[in-house]
Amino acid sequence: MPEQDPKVRVNNNDEVALGYTEEMAVREALRCLKCREHPCMTSGCPIHNNIPAFIEKITEGAFEEAYQILSETTALPAVCGRVCPQYLQCEGKCVRGDKGSPVAIGALERFVADWHRHNTVEEASAASESEKKQKKVAVIGSGPAGIACAGKLADKGYAVIIFEKEKKAGGVLSYGIPEFRLPREIVDTELEKLQKTGVVINTEKELGRDIGIDSIMEQGFDAVFIGNGAGKSIRLGIPGQELKGVLPASGFLYDANIRKEYPKAEKIAVIGGGNVAMDACRAAARVPGVQKVYVVYRRSMAEMPSDPKELREAVAEGIEFIYLTGPVEVVGDGEKAVGLKCQKMELAEPDASGRRKPVPIPGSEFVLEVDCIIEAIGSESDNDGFGDLEKSSRGYITTDPDTFATSRPGVFAGGDTVTGPKTVIAAMGAGIKAAESIAEYLEK
Ligand code: SF4
Ligand code: SF4
Repeated sequence: MPEQDPKVRVNNNDEVALGYTEEMAVREALRCLKCREHPCMTSGCPIHNNIPAFIEKITEGAFEEAYQILSETTALPAVCGRVCPQYLQCEGKCVRGDKGSPVAIGALERFVADWHRHNTVEEASAASESEKKQKKVAVIGSGPAGIACAGKLADKGYAVIIFEKEKKAGGVLSYGIPEFRLPREIVDTELEKLQKTGVVINTEKELGRDIGIDSIMEQGFDAVFIGNGAGKSIRLGIPGQELKGVLPASGFLYDANIRKEYPKAEKIAVIGGGNVAMDACRAAARVPGVQKVYVVYRRSMAEMPSDPKELREAVAEGIEFIYLTGPVEVVGDGEKAVGLKCQKMELAEPDASGRRKPVPIPGSEFVLEVDCIIEAIGSESDNDGFGDLEKSSRGYITTDPDTFATSRPGVFAGGDTVTGPKTVIAAMGAGIKAAESIAEYLEK
């Protein structure tokens, strides 16, 4: 897929990938072998999109029909086509990949969703009076799990109100993923579509601060779905982390994506090697006035958990990766961070994660001169407000894996708030399945 030149795109926030033309999409779709076993769909795509069928429609030029096939299983094709880790999922299982490059399933999904958005008048509407059910459901969080759950419940005729803690809806889709990967227009379109189905989105209502499970139940809701993600960044836990200029990735990305507010910095170090670290370093490279961005990662490139495509794009944008290096201390001048003391690492035997364990090399410390440090070493659930719901030792809500029911009758949960940080598609899939389970509970 054509994309913006790295030297140009690093100076703007426009989407990096430029999308297929109709001719390109048909040409790519023709590469699909229509395999009888279609592992891309059965064992690759977590929500089992009917990949061969929608791709076949593209080869016929029947793009709207391709969209309708996708709509049977997914609530957010324009999003998933852009942000799914396809190399681990659908494309990772494509037989074309055995002897060359897999069919670009994500790019084709994105093409179909974009084609629909640009060429079809959306007919989404609220359930008719006869379809409406007399029960209402509260959904906590308007990220992928909440959007998918709310949409499915609204389709079934339930009254749904989403409570979102931020001023803007969309959860991680709005404030976590940078616009150069997922344009706001896409998320806004999905939210508008959802509202057209009758779903009400109540913003600036935070669980544990403005609302609680008890108060929701007292308002007459018949069920609750909690899908408020796991967006709280884990801190580094090193001396100096309280200095000015040390930012959790979630806060940095939120400010950059939503407020368009940026740290005043010339040299930024991002700590971590996952997809959030990739989003953070690439967003950091676009901060006005920034001259240099480093990624400090304690293992080697081979162990990096990020999407290899994101890594390639970050390297092309001039970001320097410092591997086998861990942060030891933030160096300050008064209240302000002016450097990051690091230590070189070597890899020992695999640890519990299955990856080789980084071990510090004594006497290898050095100071990286930076005036902003972004912590992207992981995130956890912000579990204020879960009340007496049963939780795991890590603070995630415990649910029945089949029904998504929590320990409290009528309260369901799904997505990152249950599993810890996973993918958009996993959260969306959980939201759809939980909606089925909630409907079953309400009709008992
Ligand atoms: Fe692939 Fe994600 Fe689309 Fe499934 S939803 S087909 S994994 S891009
Ligand atoms: Fe087509 Fe690849 Fe799926 Fe086979 S595995 S049906 S080639 S997309």
